[in-house]
Parts: sequence; C-alpha cells; structure tokens
Amino acid sequence: MKKVLSFDIDQTLNIAKTPIPDEIAELLIRCLNFYEIAPISGQKFEQFLIQIVDRLIEKGVTTKQLEHLHLFVAQGTQYYRYKSTGDNYDAANWERVYNFPLTDEQVAKITETIEAAARELGYWEADKLAEGDEIIENRLSQVTFSALGQKAGTEAKYAWDPDCKKREKIVARCKELAPEFDYEIGGTTSINAITPGMNKVFGMTHLLEELSVEKADILYFGDMTQPGGNDYPVVQMGIDTITVRSHEDTAYALRGILGVTE
Ligand SMILES: [Mg+2]
Repeated sequence: MKKVLSFDIDQTLNIAKTPIPDEIAELLIRCLNFYEIAPISGQKFEQFLIQIVDRLIEKGVTTKQLEHLHLFVAQGTQYYRYKSTGDNYDAANWERVYNFPLTDEQVAKITETIEAAARELGYWEADKLAEGDEIIENRLSQVTFSALGQKAGTEAKYAWDPDCKKREKIVARCKELAPEFDYEIGGTTSINAITPGMNKVFGMTHLLEELSVEKADILYFGDMTQPGGNDYPVVQMGIDTITVRSHEDTAYALRGILGVTE
C-alpha cells in the first residue's frame, strides 16, 4: 500500500489560485487517517494556508490529523510541518523545517529576463493588473511570472493561454537571455524560474528523506505531467503518477482509493 499521497495544487486540487472545494477538503481529511498527505506546488506558504489548510479547518480536521499534512512550498524548496500543541489549531504551530532561497542577484537577473522576454513578445500585460498586484513575484526559492498578476479573475486567467503557446514562447526567449536558469510552465498563466534542479525533483527528494519513505511508497497527482510541465520531473523520477485534468478527476481517484482503504 502507498504511504504518501502527494499532490500538485493548482488544477489538481482546485481551480487555479482558489481554495480547494468542499469535496476535496472532505476527501483529504479522510485520507489523513491513512496516509501522509503532501501537497507540493510553486505557491508561497501563505497561499497553502488559504487554499488548503483553512479549508480543512473549516471542514473539521483535527490537529492530530494535521501532523500528517506536509507542505512542500515553492516546489518543495521549503518544507513546513504542523506541531500540535493541543486540540486548538494555531497557525503559529507550522514549523519551517528547511528553506533553500535564491540569492538577491539571482532574483534580480530572473526578474529582468522574464520582463524583457514578455515585453519583447507583447505579453507584458501591466495595464490589466489590479491595484497593488504584480506580474513577477519573488517566492524566495523561485521567481514566478503570472501574466495577469495574482488577483486576476479565474476566467481571464483560463482564457489567457489555454494551449500554453504564449508561455512556451516566453520560456524559449528567457532560455536565450539567461540560460543558467530553468523555466517551467504551471497553473494557468504562470512560469516559474528556478536554479537548475530546484524543481519538484528537489522537493520530492527531500520529501523521501523527511518522511523516511521510498519512491514506491508515493502516489502523485498532477495536471502538468507532459514534458516541460511542472509535474513532469516527478514522472521522470519514476514516481507513480496519476495525471488529472482537474480536481474532479482527483476527487474521483481519491474516492476509489478510500473505497479500498477505509
Ligand atoms: Mg498544476
């Protein structure tokens, strides 16, 4: 039997950038009774709390169960776990176990490169940004380009680059301008820039170590498992992967898993 269920977040557990739906929250809570649950995504820690943890709390997860939830933030270059101090949930109890940030020079170089590439190609949509929003965000271990910013509506995001063609062009140009970094397409409008090797393989390798498990113990769910997608490195590692189109597929698979586990 698998010991760890690991998940990409956007488009795998939710509609990109939104909190996980009721059904996924309920299924994850049931899964926490049997499995270590390890979401891994390019998002920031605060986003993991909003999108996953707060929803689980609303649905009645216990602090004991939360000890089996492992947050692999920024593609697993940061790892957080919950240390229960009693029955009441306290967000201050999340402990950051490790962190591998980019240097200031790397952040500056990536930021400059992506902006130049997007401007050149006509994909720099600064005029469409909400107030106070930003296109390029420093997430410590990676720099993330979100074409329409963080606050854009879901529909606008889905419509921006449904076939990934715009982002493929931006990535191709970035690789010419700054080949020392890796660029991965994720979510609906995003590109994550990282130093080579700081992708989900890095996160997964640390997950194996932190949770003391083997590759064969993990079942991974992701929507971008094609070459160039941000879930592809996990497939390449030889970890059993279920490719999903949306959280509905994930819910379907989890119901199946719980059907033979509970
Ligand atoms: Mg995804």
